Amino acid sequence: MGVSLFMLEGRHASFEYGRYGNPTTVVAEEKISALEGAESTLLMASGMCASIVMFMALVPAGGHIVTTTDCYRKTRIFIETVLPKMGIEATIIDPADVDALEHALDKNEVTLFFTESPTNPFLRCVDIELVSKLCHSKGTLVCVDGTFATPLNQKALALGADIVLHSATKYIAGHNDVLGGCISGSEKLISAVRTLHNILGGALNPNAAYLIIRGMKTLHLRVQQQNTTALRMAKLLEGHPKVTQVYYPGLVSHPEHYVAKQQMTGFGGVVSFEIDGDLMKTAKFIDALKIPYIAPSFGGCESIVDQPAIMSYWDLSQSDRAKFGIKDNLVRFSFGIEDFEDLKADILQALETI
Ligand SMILES: *Cc1c(COP(=O)(O)O)cnc(C)c1O
Repeated sequence: MGVSLFMLEGRHASFEYGRYGNPTTVVAEEKISALEGAESTLLMASGMCASIVMFMALVPAGGHIVTTTDCYRKTRIFIETVLPKMGIEATIIDPADVDALEHALDKNEVTLFFTESPTNPFLRCVDIELVSKLCHSKGTLVCVDGTFATPLNQKALALGADIVLHSATKYIAGHNDVLGGCISGSEKLISAVRTLHNILGGALNPNAAYLIIRGMKTLHLRVQQQNTTALRMAKLLEGHPKVTQVYYPGLVSHPEHYVAKQQMTGFGGVVSFEIDGDLMKTAKFIDALKIPYIAPSFGGCESIVDQPAIMSYWDLSQSDRAKFGIKDNLVRFSFGIEDFEDLKADILQALETI
């Protein structure tokens, strides 16, 4: 990349100060741009850093955004508690409720529609092509948090989104050992975000960029394996008598299966499901698993299992958790790259214990 393009992007070509960029980080950014078909990518210290800087750079004080119900909890907390300090209001809609989106766009001057697709933890899918058309007709930008999809399973920009965001901590880095976040899009939009990022200072450590580059060498192999394992296990779990509900966009029973099939080439490695039992019975199932780590992340080589009621939502009462659809028996399983038969045997033996 030539000096002139760096200047266009508002970068300091000499990297005269670490907060403005680093050659190793630029290599990682270019790789993500290539995968997303983006003009530019900005890599930051975490996924949360990426979304927050994006909101603050692109939405004016007193502005209005639209977002979706099912979503990464800290993102929701930022939207509900910090954005109002800048007079920014949010309309929150169901991921499939296109009428509600149209209504919100008609009623308010909406700067940005922000959504995950698939969402956390219920893997709901937003029709990116359709919402982009609607939003663009009103001059509204679309940002998709594609962390669950990975840049391989879903090309949000090609589908019409203006910006795609990832927690690189998850699949992109892929080894459960580094934090990072990125946003990709047109040079114009990303430059605007970069300018604020240079002030706010959530710079990625270059060694983290190196780990991300190393992780990305196997992204396609990992994602292929995780797609395959997750789909096979989702089908198996759906037919299991001790499982009452399975949430996975690759299943015909999923409410947006038809959307997922249209816009994704694989359905990702995370499967959420509900155990036939209460909080303790579900915890017993999780404790009986031998392969996965019990942790709140996902997307790494090692399988990870999470019981949201006692982990990511531990501080809320049962009725407050229920407002987000989080039941005591919900399990979020992130399939790693372990052998399918080993994972299957492990899950089946753990179900046998309850
Ligand atoms: C993890 C995650 C984030 C936050 O990313 P960090 O790198 O942990 O800060 C944002 N959105 C989604 C969908 C995530 O899964």
